[in-house]
Amino acid sequence: MSGPAEESAVKVCVRVRPLIQRETKGALESSEPQKLYWKADTKSLHQLDDGVPTKSFSYDRVFSSSESTKQLYLDIAKPLVVSTVEGYNGTIFAYGQTSSGKTFTMMGCDFAPGVIPLSMEEVFQTIKNFPKKEFLLRVSYMEIYNETVTDLLVDSWKRKPLEVRETLNKNIYVADLTEELVTSPSQALAWVSKGEKNRHYGKTKMNERSSRSHTIFRMILESREVSDPATGENSDGAIIVSHLNLVDLAGSERASQTGAEGARFKEGCNINRSLFMLSQVIKKLSDESQRGFTNYRDSKLTRILQNSLGGNAKTVIICTITPATLEETLSTLQFASTAKKMKNDPHVTEVSDDGALLKRYRNEIVDLKRRLHEVSSVTQTTVTEKESLSQLLQEKDQLQKEQEDRIKNLTKLLVTGATFIPAKKMPKRRVTWGGKLLRFAGATEGDLGKSDLSFAEQVSRKRKADLSSMELLEEEEELDSRWEIPDESSYEMDLNQTGSVTGHSYEDSPQYVSQKEAKLELKLEEEKCLREEVLSRVSSLELQLEEERRKSEEVLSRASSLELQLKEAMNQEEVLSTASLELQLEEERRKSEEVLSRASSLELQLEEERCQREKVMSRASSLELQLKEAMNQEEVLSTASLELQLEEEK
Ligand code: ADP
Ligand code: MG
Repeated sequence: MSGPAEESAVKVCVRVRPLIQRETKGALESSEPQKLYWKADTKSLHQLDDGVPTKSFSYDRVFSSSESTKQLYLDIAKPLVVSTVEGYNGTIFAYGQTSSGKTFTMMGCDFAPGVIPLSMEEVFQTIKNFPKKEFLLRVSYMEIYNETVTDLLVDSWKRKPLEVRETLNKNIYVADLTEELVTSPSQALAWVSKGEKNRHYGKTKMNERSSRSHTIFRMILESREVSDPATGENSDGAIIVSHLNLVDLAGSERASQTGAEGARFKEGCNINRSLFMLSQVIKKLSDESQRGFTNYRDSKLTRILQNSLGGNAKTVIICTITPATLEETLSTLQFASTAKKMKNDPHVTEVSDDGALLKRYRNEIVDLKRRLHEVSSVTQTTVTEKESLSQLLQEKDQLQKEQEDRIKNLTKLLVTGATFIPAKKMPKRRVTWGGKLLRFAGATEGDLGKSDLSFAEQVSRKRKADLSSMELLEEEEELDSRWEIPDESSYEMDLNQTGSVTGHSYEDSPQYVSQKEAKLELKLEEEKCLREEVLSRVSSLELQLEEERRKSEEVLSRASSLELQLKEAMNQEEVLSTASLELQLEEERRKSEEVLSRASSLELQLEEERCQREKVMSRASSLELQLKEAMNQEEVLSTASLELQLEEEK
């Protein structure tokens, strides 16, 4: 198919089939050889009159009975099929009387695949030669019987008559016709066989019907240039749509009969209306003298295949004949000769509107890819967030551990500080000191016993509480020895001497007092140090706690932002498993809860620390008071001793 003249021409070929069993059998029964009316060479058919050629008919190609379907396909069908991949519309008709070999040629059989399966193979093979193009292929299969169009890809019980309609751009289409996407020849052929099954389902007079109906197997090819990934060049987005129609027509003998007899046609025998109208349209188109309106609308077939008849398509007509009939074959050959004169105007049509399915799919794919990208980037961030969060948690755990250790040490320190006060013996001493203090302050024993507000009492009570917790300590001896104070006497003094300091004991001696004073001073110094230490630790703990709180807040806000992102990700319908994300989120939540609970336990500890600090501070101030008291005592004692000395001297 090279050159515009050849492109516009309708190709017509004749295929002579070999005699079939019925014909040879009949000949056998009559004991006379089957009479052959036709003889073929590659371009012409010669009518034989008693074996002598009389008339000749020439076509683009004549296939003898010995030539295979494959041969026919390669010579006449293949170029058309290839050009449909290039964007041209193409139609192949099989025209001929019943049992002349139309279906054998179009559909084929197991050992000789027909034009339809060969074309399907060809389309997919040809597509491989266009690596820069992408294709979207669909198939439909319809039947026209009694001027009713039905969808053969729909189960017969669901089938309903389909309407032939026209778009604003004058494109003819069959409304509601199923178009199945195909990606391989076998897929396309699977639809053909499904259609065949549907066609034959429940039909008792199957052969009768199939000889009276037309079938159109159609492949819709959408193609466009793909953007070059190497150069990044984008295609202009133009989409080419082409149709490949493979048509198995009804038996032509009826058209010729009804056409000839007229009356039967008028009787409403519209089984041939389409075929009759086809010959009329072709006659009109092939007659240069007949200009003007071509009435495609008079039949469903001509309307559906309008483009292929003098329009924008390349058309091939295969006329099948049997050499055993004269009249019907003659009629077929006349049709073929007329069709030969028909001219088409094939050109590649570009569609740039969104009506092209390929464009819609392309857009959808782009959209889906974008959404997939979004989802995966969200997941990516989620994963990164999760990683950083778990790192943060690890850091936090480490910090927590350090903090706990520090608190432990601090507690130990506090306990160590407390051990300066002897455990079991403490209450006695305390009461003693308190008693003395109060006595010097002018209070009575009775007051001490009664007043809850007494500072001494408070100290005493606190110490008692401390004692209970320290009873477990088995350091009594050591602690006592550190104090080096004879407890029993002190205790006795406290119990026996009430209200006045008149007794003469070791404790009351100036030596003892100064010794005690020194010890107390030392102790006070120690207490002060301890207090400072505790204070600084408490403030550092407070800082840490603050930091913890901040971090846990961060973790929480991250978790909630993650939750938001996850929600978004879940909303975007995609491939990714959000369940695992949810699990991760759950884990994050659990961890942040842990962090929170740890923070609150830290807070508790801090509270305890504060208590301890208070204790230490109060102890320090009580020590200060005691020191003052001791100093006063010393003064009194020294005055007394001076008085004594004076007395003695006197
Ligand atoms: P149609 O579809 O035109 O009514 P078929 O294709 O059904 O005719 O052919 C009728 C019979 O002739 C079938 O048995 C088919 O196998 C046989 N036949 C047709 N053409 C050929 C051929 N070229 N070679 C061998 N057998 C053929
Ligand atoms: Mg048939």
